[in-house]
Amino acid sequence: MPPAAVMFTQTRLDVAEAELSELEEALEALGRPRFHARQIFQWVYKRGVTDVALMSDLARDLRSDLAASCTIATPVVERQERSEDGTMKFLLRLADGKHIESVFIPDTPAQTFCISTQVGCAMACGFCLTGKMGLVRNLTAGEIAGQVRVLAAATDLLDHPFNIVLMGMGEPLHNYDDTMKALRMLHEEHGLAVSPRRVTLSTVGIVPGLERLAREPLMPNLAISLHATTDEQRTRLVPPNRKYPLAEILDVCRRFPLKRRSRITFEYVLLADVNDTPDDARRLARLLHGIKSKVNLIPLNPAPGIPYERPSDERVNRFAQILADRHLTVSVRKSRGRDIRAACGQLIVEGGTKKSAAQTMALLMGR
Ligand code: SAH
Repeated sequence: MPPAAVMFTQTRLDVAEAELSELEEALEALGRPRFHARQIFQWVYKRGVTDVALMSDLARDLRSDLAASCTIATPVVERQERSEDGTMKFLLRLADGKHIESVFIPDTPAQTFCISTQVGCAMACGFCLTGKMGLVRNLTAGEIAGQVRVLAAATDLLDHPFNIVLMGMGEPLHNYDDTMKALRMLHEEHGLAVSPRRVTLSTVGIVPGLERLAREPLMPNLAISLHATTDEQRTRLVPPNRKYPLAEILDVCRRFPLKRRSRITFEYVLLADVNDTPDDARRLARLLHGIKSKVNLIPLNPAPGIPYERPSDERVNRFAQILADRHLTVSVRKSRGRDIRAACGQLIVEGGTKKSAAQTMALLMGR
């Protein structure tokens, strides 16, 4: 655990970056009782209050002490778009002026927040728009958890159950420590008390990260972005495959400690005439043999600058049928929010490192 002093950068404590135990220590360092940390957590997470002055069950002098010595950095909603299917995309501004996108997907039947873990992404998957940005920086734990606070408040869900999918911008296992810390902060019972069973972490399969994840006390559901059935093809679509090839990823999956009745989801983006043939489907079924798995097929969400096409529904169904015939559980992901570019792989904001601002704007504008 980092010493409380770490959080007093620029002499101010950022409550949004603290786990409960760290906040307790910080209060002690201020000469205050530890139990106030729980009250503060309730205000910040359960009630969405980030102004210390409004925390009415704290003594007045404590409030003024805190106002002088801490901040509660919270992403600011800069733009909010609503799709015709109810999906909402949020453009959030972070403390340093960088931007990320987060998405609310209603009634699937669950209420789901799709959260980012990085500004941009270093994985450079060939069909993903975020990958075009390159990695700008990791998000902090407070910024990851902060997206959930902001979206839950904006959608009136602070008091309702919701799911979290780490499927926004970025690769969660490439920002391991902050992602896991954010999950601990969200799990805190005096805060939003999000059960790990309601969280799904989606990854390209960074093997050392998967091995660490397998030992976590607080274990989210796991989704692996597979997308191909041979190393040659996967390396072309998902470049990290060069370092962590299919056999290694599937080997970790085979050994992954799953709770009773839980399974690993394998995501497979279908690209017309690239990875959507009956042979691909049969190979996929063979690869997953012996793994407690389910397959989530994602027909490509096309985007400007992405050199692939979405297969026909007929082709998607044929692929799904081959898997089902081999006793795999298959679902086809309905793409949500495409009219506002909130669907998988369509999240991108300006300021990426690989593209000039003008190029990125051109992508955003659709040309
Ligand atoms: N980096 C993580 C999480 C972010 S992406 C990962 O790769 O798993 C979440 C899912 O959306 C991944 O399965 C990703 O491959 C998929 N995706 C990316 N671009 C897409 C696109 N254009 N169409 C459909 N799905 C896409």
